[in-house]
Amino acid sequence: MNPISVGACALLLSLAGATAVARLWPAPAAPRTTGRRRLGRSPMRSREVLETGVAYCPLENRDRRHHFLRLGGRLCECGHLTRENAR
Ligand SMILES: [Zn+2]
Repeated sequence: MNPISVGACALLLSLAGATAVARLWPAPAAPRTTGRRRLGRSPMRSREVLETGVAYCPLENRDRRHHFLRLGGRLCECGHLTRENAR
C-alpha cells in the first residue's frame, strides 16, 4: 500500500467516524428560541404585515407589540385589531 492510498483511507475513515458521531450525538431537547419570535401564532400572513412595532392597545390600555397591516390598522399581540393607524 502506498502512502497516498493510506492517507486516503485514513481520510475516509475519519469522515465516516465524524458522520457516525454526528448521527449518534443526541439532538438538543428543545429548539433554541431566537429572540421572541413565535412562528405560527400570528393569524396574519407576513405579506399583509407592513412592519412590527410597539403601539398602544386600547383593549389592554397599555403599549404592546403590534403588527401594522398593509391595509391599515394594527393587530395587537393579544389579537385585538385596532382600525386606525395612529401610533
Ligand atoms: Zn392588546
